Amino acid sequence: MSDIVVIGGGIVGVSIAHELAKRGENVTLFEKRYIGSGSTFRCATGIRQQFGDEANIQVMKRSVELWKKYSEEYEFPFDQTGYLFLLYSEEEVEDFKKNIALQNKFGVPTRLITPEEAKEIAPLINIDEVIAASWNPTDGKADPFFAVTAFARKAKEYGAKIYEYTEVKDILVEKGEIKGVKTNRGFFKADIVVNAANAWAPLINIMAGIPIDIPIRPYKHQSIITQPIERGSIKPMVISFRHHDAYITQTHHGGVIGGIGLEYGPTYDLTPTYEYLKEVTKTLPQIVPALKNLRILRMWAGYYAKTPDSNPAIGRIEEIDQLYIAAGFSGHGFMMSPAVGEMIAELIIKGRTHLPIWWYDPYRFERGELREKAIQMG
Ligand SMILES: Cc1cc2nc3c(=O)[nH]c(=O)nc-3n(C[C@H](O)[C@H](O)[C@H](O)COP(=O)(O)OP(=O)(O)OC[C@H]3O[C@@H](n4cnc5c(N)ncnc54)[C@H](O)[C@@H]3O)c2cc1C
Repeated sequence: MSDIVVIGGGIVGVSIAHELAKRGENVTLFEKRYIGSGSTFRCATGIRQQFGDEANIQVMKRSVELWKKYSEEYEFPFDQTGYLFLLYSEEEVEDFKKNIALQNKFGVPTRLITPEEAKEIAPLINIDEVIAASWNPTDGKADPFFAVTAFARKAKEYGAKIYEYTEVKDILVEKGEIKGVKTNRGFFKADIVVNAANAWAPLINIMAGIPIDIPIRPYKHQSIITQPIERGSIKPMVISFRHHDAYITQTHHGGVIGGIGLEYGPTYDLTPTYEYLKEVTKTLPQIVPALKNLRILRMWAGYYAKTPDSNPAIGRIEEIDQLYIAAGFSGHGFMMSPAVGEMIAELIIKGRTHLPIWWYDPYRFERGELREKAIQMG
């Protein structure tokens, strides 16, 4: 049986290892630090199907089915508390009407609602200038810590080997065929390698000697969390493009998590900035005024591993037999991960997948066939 190596122990690598091990494959995952330590633990928990193109809508519909199934089976929190996009102009409403029609076509029950209905769903929001909202009650949020830990635990139960603090330093390729990986713990034989290193994926591509640049670049994104407040105070993920692409929701622990789209990069630096703190404290209370009275407990930064069209690169690398990539999630990799695990497992085992993986073709950049930009929010 083939030896499959997955590089990267974020939610994507762990989901891939889990799906492969579940199907009886022989899989080993290497993570240079600890499981979840990359972008995964820094993410804002959001899971949505409200995209503007057919592929992402279908993939996210499947992902939500899997979030539901696995959260029940493995007992970790996934709450379908919805996503609420607040709309402030006729132009925004027209755009969202198109997206909603497409989402409905694929069975995602998004609706355009009035500001008053939005206020009923999230009573703490300010609707003074809101003219409508896009609402899908089947979107939701999951706890990244519990999710990634549960998938890793299950992957191991199915027989996957997971090595933490094990960094892949090189990939041995002979005549276009993978022979193994060199790590700080020595050499491991491999027939198949999956690059799930997200922000570090370009470095893995260089190790494998792939002849094209798959343009994934790290951008610094920050987030804040407040002191805990009464649970259920802000149930959905609330989004406003009008306010610097802001997102706000309440975590499972009761704190309010939020952020804006002020980004820095490309950079591997992750130091939080004062400029961001000033901007975020000014912006978020315009959407939820009660935030003015809450203490910010922490702020932190993580990577959006971005591509030019904000869609990931998922698929086979043609020049090297049995090298796969699933990286460049551009700020929405947490939500996509269960479906990505399924796609890569099917691709390796059967050579194809029922989901529209072609949309994420790693060669589209080289060919100049960029996709419609994916909605890149929370
Ligand atoms: C502030 C913020 C908010 C976000 N909010 C959301 C959200 O609401 N919803 C959503 O879906 N997404 C969100 N995201 C994006 C989400 O966090 C990422 O898309 C997702 O975590 C990517 O998962 P991953 O497994 O691909 O990458 P990562 O979690 O970064 O995992 C990659 C792993 O590879 C490891 N690695 C790298 N190189 C090597 C090597 N040579 N050898 C071994 N291991 C290696 C790293 O240590 C790392 O753990 C947010 C991100 C940020 C920063």
